Amino acid sequence: MKRKRVEFSDRKESKEIIRQFEIAMALMSVIPLLGFVYLVGRISGLSYFAEPGGIVTLFIIAVALSGMLLARFLVSNVVGRLGRANDELRKASEMKSSFLRNVAHEAATPLATTRNHLEAMKDELYGPAGPEMQKSIGVSLRQVTRLTRIIHDLLDTGRIEAGTLHMEFEPTDLSLLLKEAMETASEGLPARRDRIRLLAELQPRWVESADRDRIVQTVVNLLRNAEKYSPENPEIELDVQDRGSQYEISVADHGDGIPDEAKEIIFEPFTRHTSRKVGGLGLGLAISRHIAHAHGGRLWVEDNEGSGSVFKFTVPKQRSQENSDQNVFPAFPPSNRND
Ligand code: ADP
Repeated sequence: MKRKRVEFSDRKESKEIIRQFEIAMALMSVIPLLGFVYLVGRISGLSYFAEPGGIVTLFIIAVALSGMLLARFLVSNVVGRLGRANDELRKASEMKSSFLRNVAHEAATPLATTRNHLEAMKDELYGPAGPEMQKSIGVSLRQVTRLTRIIHDLLDTGRIEAGTLHMEFEPTDLSLLLKEAMETASEGLPARRDRIRLLAELQPRWVESADRDRIVQTVVNLLRNAEKYSPENPEIELDVQDRGSQYEISVADHGDGIPDEAKEIIFEPFTRHTSRKVGGLGLGLAISRHIAHAHGGRLWVEDNEGSGSVFKFTVPKQRSQENSDQNVFPAFPPSNRND
């Protein structure tokens, strides 16, 4: 009931703002009218129009001046209201972020404890577990893992917004990370592992400074997405190419593809663009792009030949000066999506 009233008064207020804008515009249009009347006066030689002291001219000038003053008042009033509305939106968005951060924080520890207990039961540390019990432990573990991933994404998002996402940079062999990412993404399941085809030879590919866990997190995220959004077209290709001053990692699938109008917005937090009934919060790509930028690289998506998408992610071989003295990065760009 209360919510309804708020929405109603919001709508009334925006109607009022639009009305005031219209009045302001109408009053301002007196100025060109004044110029027009003056010109007509000059051309036709009518002194009471054209002469600076003419009664009609003075009258029109007075109307135009008061119109301008009123318009100025209305515009600054409207700007003030918009500013206040914007502050309220920002506050609401901050409250939402802080609420999500707190929930994620509170959930992280019990989830970790539950996971440890389940692992111990699986390894039969509390006594023998028959096949039925192993099956149900397996299901519970998968659900807890999924929930843990969501919680970690929310925590990372909070850190990025607060500018406190920390990175540990060190010399890194990217090829090793690709292998690790393939194992993590397939969670030890051969059927999932077999979907991923590694195109590049696994020779050493060193970069001067990278955060290993964050690079793995990014590649795993791209591989999981490829799997999630192309269930009917199994092949997923993982590749890495030497592009001179940087390496380019790519993950290609033959699935849904992404229309041009969504190719940028999917990188915004809490933004999804799929009709599939698959779970997700729309955070993975936003976090991944942030990680790419933190390394001085880029992350973007292109169409795959035929069908599907190719996500490309660059990592410079040497760390640029711009990134070399900081390992804390700025917040997400402001977004009102889904607010
Ligand atoms: P989530 O997968 O949890 O929704 P992401 O941030 O990883 O969040 O992805 C954002 C959106 O981008 C997805 O909801 C989906 O619409 C789109 N997307 C990501 N990867 C792919 C892909 N490989 N193929 C098609 N769409 C994709």
